[in-house]
Amino acid sequence: MTVMLRTQNFQAYELKCKCGCGKLNYDNLFLMKLEVFRYLLGSRLEVTSGCRCIKHNQAAEGKKNSCHICEGRAATAVDISPLDTGCLNVFILAVKTGFFNEVIWYKTRNFIHLGVDKNQKEPYYEII
Ligand SMILES: [Zn+2]
Ligand SMILES: [Zn+2]
Repeated sequence: MTVMLRTQNFQAYELKCKCGCGKLNYDNLFLMKLEVFRYLLGSRLEVTSGCRCIKHNQAAEGKKNSCHICEGRAATAVDISPLDTGCLNVFILAVKTGFFNEVIWYKTRNFIHLGVDKNQKEPYYEII
């Protein structure tokens, strides 16, 4: 098993499953992209949802094959809320960099989903 990458801007307590189970299993390339994205953006990011166990993903109404799932696979998605800039800037940069092939801005709920779905060829961008 590979050791999960440690990043300066995202800590284990923020990324682990928020149901209380404490599961933490992220894809290292995804974490690296997230860290570089954070530097490019220049804003602190609050993780509103990190990785999820299967149970918590259901409770959070995530889709069945959500990239947040960290059980049986490494998670490749995160929901974030910017603390020093607006969601629009986050969305634009996420699309521009091409780091993620799932970028969804939940406008009314004020957070952005950044994900890498390895089974998806075309990028998926949405503002809900
Ligand atoms: Zn959990
Ligand atoms: Zn998400």
